[in-house]
Amino acid sequence: MLEGKKFFIHTFGCQMNLNDSEHVASLLSKSGASRTDSPENSDIILINTCAVREKSVEKLFSYLGRLKDQKLNKGSVLVCLGCVAQLYREKLLSKFPYLDLVVGPAKYQELPFLLSRPCLEPAVLSHWEKKWVELPISPEVRESQVSAYITIMEGCNNFCTFCVVPFTRGREKYRPLRAIIEEARQLAEAGYLEVQLLGQNVNSYLDPESGADLTVLLEKISDIEQIKWIRFLTSHPKNFSLEMARTMASLKKVCHQLHLPVQSGSNRLLASMNRNYSIEDYLQKIGWLKSLMPAISLSTDIIVGFPGETDDDFGQTMRLIEQVKYTNIFSFRYSPRPLTRAARLKDDVPEEVKIERLIRLQRRQKEIQLELNNKMIGQKQKVLGLGCSKKGNLFTGRNEGYQVVNFSSSQPVKPGLVEVKITGAGAYSLRGEVST
Ligand code: SF4
Repeated sequence: MLEGKKFFIHTFGCQMNLNDSEHVASLLSKSGASRTDSPENSDIILINTCAVREKSVEKLFSYLGRLKDQKLNKGSVLVCLGCVAQLYREKLLSKFPYLDLVVGPAKYQELPFLLSRPCLEPAVLSHWEKKWVELPISPEVRESQVSAYITIMEGCNNFCTFCVVPFTRGREKYRPLRAIIEEARQLAEAGYLEVQLLGQNVNSYLDPESGADLTVLLEKISDIEQIKWIRFLTSHPKNFSLEMARTMASLKKVCHQLHLPVQSGSNRLLASMNRNYSIEDYLQKIGWLKSLMPAISLSTDIIVGFPGETDDDFGQTMRLIEQVKYTNIFSFRYSPRPLTRAARLKDDVPEEVKIERLIRLQRRQKEIQLELNNKMIGQKQKVLGLGCSKKGNLFTGRNEGYQVVNFSSSQPVKPGLVEVKITGAGAYSLRGEVST
């Protein structure tokens, strides 16, 4: 259908979006198109977008503005995908009249048909599918040869008051367990060593056919011999159970690493965010994890400057990071998102206060990371080598804690698991050499 056409995909946002781009690339490749690595050489430009923060939408709008000349001079087809497509729909076509298609995440399977029509009419496709739609990924479009994403669920029923995801991804729907296991088996046969199970709220996963939960899914993937490491994200603290922590500790292939978004250290703000846990509940779960897996690597998301955040609320967040000692945090200034309940609250923390709090938080977190990483010097760690590092003369990979490790080796290193002696540490990465 699309023989001879070249396509380019630019992805904004999280792992879910990266995985969605792999799905789209697979659909177009199967229809005869080939992927290029620059918009200038392509007949079809697809932009996979993120609506989670105002800043990501601003970046997208500026990118779309820069593509105008390319679109008008070369006549490429311009397609907006993802959460911004779902959220803004027709508004995108009026703001950027040179866009050809606006397609939300539930309608990607229609892209080959839409793009192969002889006369392309500007169109918006954004309705929800209630059932799971299987979109297989061909191995050649995967970003990595050794580590693969597998989507296990999509959407969210939680309606945190700041979050736009329930409006862009819809309500939760779960992929059948047999389809997930089949994909994991195929990946194992193709040489993949690590799988990362993805979804907005993976701990609420239930197989629509048998009712099996995430612990059962992890056990079944662990049985696939060639798979060595398993990760999963994102976990909501309210759904993270003691049974889940015990499963992580007991299954050898499940990495001792967890992203557990807290958002704030203040119970008052957690209630206002509709998070449905208290900081005491959260810390109890951290306690289970640390007692069952003492070396676990923990990361989190934190919003500063949520409506009504006082110095005292922020002080509680600062105390939390001292207590937990996260390996990494993703911290952001609050910005109101369309359709959310928090957007109706007064955005009353002045911008300069938000910036000052964010700087204080990130500065202290950087020191914590450096302290933690320095303690790793001298350790021998397994690292999943992914290829050459940005500097070109080193190899790069991630350890079990999902930290970046740049390492040297006297021999060429193929992507795969290697043992690395840690010889140096920065706040954001480790250095090492392949141990002999
Ligand atoms: S759990 Fe909350 S923050 Fe996470 S996707 Fe759902 S609504 Fe958004």
